Amino acid sequence: MFRAAVMDGFGKPIRIMDFEKPILERGSVWLQTVFSEVCGTDVHLYHGRLAGVPYPIIPGHINVGRVAELNGEVKDVDGNLLVPGDMVTFMDVHETCHNCWYCLVAKASTRCPSRKVYGITYGVQDGILGGWSEYIYLKPGVKIVKLPQRISPKAFIGAGCGLPTAFHAIEQANIRLGDTVVIQGSGPVGLNAAILAQLVGALKVIVVGGPQHRLSIAEDFGVDTVINIETVNHEERIRIVRELTAGRGADVVIEATGVPGAVPEGMSLTRDAGTYVVVGQYTDNGDVSLNPHMDINKKHLTVKGTWGIDLSHFYRSVKVMEKYSERFAWEKLISKHYSLSDINQALADVENQTVMKAVIDPYSV
Ligand SMILES: [Zn+2]
Ligand SMILES: [Zn+2]
Repeated sequence: MFRAAVMDGFGKPIRIMDFEKPILERGSVWLQTVFSEVCGTDVHLYHGRLAGVPYPIIPGHINVGRVAELNGEVKDVDGNLLVPGDMVTFMDVHETCHNCWYCLVAKASTRCPSRKVYGITYGVQDGILGGWSEYIYLKPGVKIVKLPQRISPKAFIGAGCGLPTAFHAIEQANIRLGDTVVIQGSGPVGLNAAILAQLVGALKVIVVGGPQHRLSIAEDFGVDTVINIETVNHEERIRIVRELTAGRGADVVIEATGVPGAVPEGMSLTRDAGTYVVVGQYTDNGDVSLNPHMDINKKHLTVKGTWGIDLSHFYRSVKVMEKYSERFAWEKLISKHYSLSDINQALADVENQTVMKAVIDPYSV
């Protein structure tokens, strides 16, 4: 027997339940959870804001754990044979078909209708497929990545799902060596985007966000300028960014706020013929008005959206972390550790933004 946290949906408190260890299919792995996280998506899940969620579910989509047991030969993405005791992570998205129109013609597997996500679109009835649990069942074919020695489990979960999400946005942004990049938002996605923007060659990175403690982390991560939205108003924010870019605006702006009103402002922060990437509007937070002539057409603006990740973003994120683990202290993104029985508090703290990253340690009491 072991314990897992179950979410019934639509604002019902999370329950801790006892489960029995399942029978391991050939090619599956029984993972002992080391850390999971609470991210903004889990808050959306709690409020029933995501479509196609088969409640009750065991949340927790980005996880790190130790191989407890496996059935047969199981290899990680690099072809390493896994053995009990290995510290690993795994790609939360599973069952992408690589056989449908979106996968093969559009080459946009994040829009594959078959894809399932651990902790989100797998329900309790499908198995122990979420990380708010003492153990996680890795189905045959789940993409596992052995955690490199240089990455501590704590740093890995500090980066959390914000890193691969930001990776996808940065890939879409096509930042060029010497560009000025504005990141709107200083949550986990925004701060990871600020790290990656530097790594792909941005000369100047400006983070527009808040509160101050998040902006201080941005500065620790090497961001050149931070603008606190709590003390600097809309007009001032535009004026400051223009001043830092010879009056033009930034070459690339990445939205990572979740606030619809940030979008027209982000377009204003982008230079003519620049690129604007929207990654923060993960759920439907409402409409916003913009002027298509001024904001897009005449401005010659490229606008891109990214939603979700594929294996390339996840895998490369791990490799980037391995290389830059000393330069960027990802564990700084962690505000607090919670036990399974504190999960309702963890969700509330993430929702109220009293913490940046809430880490779940299922074995702490
Ligand atoms: Zn497909
Ligand atoms: Zn997440």
